[in-house]
Amino acid sequence: MSQPKKCSHDVDCEDLRQRFEQLRLKEELFKIMAESSVDWDVWYAIDGQSIYITPSCLGVTGYPREFFYKDPDFITSIVHPDDLEIFQEHRRLHYVKATGPAEVTFRILYKNGEVRWIWHQCQAVYSSDGTWMGRRTTNRDVTALKQAEEQLQRLSTTDPLTGAYNRRMFMDLLARELQRAGRYGEPFSLLMFDIDHFKMVNDQYGHDAGDRVLQEVVRLSMETIRQADTLARWGGEEFMVLLPRTDGDMAYTMGERLRKSIATHAFVDADQLTVSVGVTSLNQVDTMDALLKRVDEALYSAKESGRNLVVRG
Ligand code: GH3
Ligand code: MG
Ligand code: MG
Repeated sequence: MSQPKKCSHDVDCEDLRQRFEQLRLKEELFKIMAESSVDWDVWYAIDGQSIYITPSCLGVTGYPREFFYKDPDFITSIVHPDDLEIFQEHRRLHYVKATGPAEVTFRILYKNGEVRWIWHQCQAVYSSDGTWMGRRTTNRDVTALKQAEEQLQRLSTTDPLTGAYNRRMFMDLLARELQRAGRYGEPFSLLMFDIDHFKMVNDQYGHDAGDRVLQEVVRLSMETIRQADTLARWGGEEFMVLLPRTDGDMAYTMGERLRKSIATHAFVDADQLTVSVGVTSLNQVDTMDALLKRVDEALYSAKESGRNLVVRG
């Protein structure tokens, strides 16, 4: 039986060769894993310099990793200006520090100027003997996820035909306004308006024309109300406006402004249109139900009194 070959230092050469091959395979495996990462990963040394950056940096930012190797601060030049403060705050708290896992979401400007959302997670890393080796960060492009979230948020809070807030969202905003008014003792008012004889628009011009009229009414109303006011489609051809910090007199003036802007508008898809408007303001002991009932009754009264009118309730 042949003995394993020994080199001059009495080491088993075959064993060494095998161990070397195992190490080489291991290194190749980690290299493939790192270099095929979709996330843009960066390993920062404790002095803030980049030890390793995945090539996926190019796909996520539009810039090759060399930009970031040369200047570890290059990232701040691509962070969206509106998110720079939270990003810098995150860096101040966690970069080049041995803190545990932390995350932040911010926007960057891709090389072509497009806005991309980044979910960033980082944590201190240690060698097997416990030596602090710096910080490992992962930057994931979550733009598609963000867009889907925003879309979902839009769908759940707005009316798809007109883009105005839906009834549910209006109730949420009203509940918040009631709380705020209770806390600070500030007034607020509601307008409820309904298109007069809208059924005739549908009958005369068709349902699609009716839809376009509803869109036009919303566009006109949005131009008429103030920035702090909120418009919602309450249902059918009925709308609500929340007027924060507005007393009854001012709300009545706003109701008149709205009524006139619609009555004097030349609609593309219909003859002259009018709306009836109910107005009410917060009482000291009001509940949401009481407010809604009062504004609804005021609107009903405007209809009963001949339409194209503003009535206070
Ligand atoms: P009034 O002056 O008393 O308010 O009369 P009106 O005809 O406006 O009221 P009515 O409640 O009788 O009819 C409302 C109509 O609004 C009936 C309904 O078909 C129409 N409508 C509700 N939602 C939509 C919509 O999304 N699109 C269109 N085109 N019509 C709608
Ligand atoms: Mg109507
Ligand atoms: Mg109606």
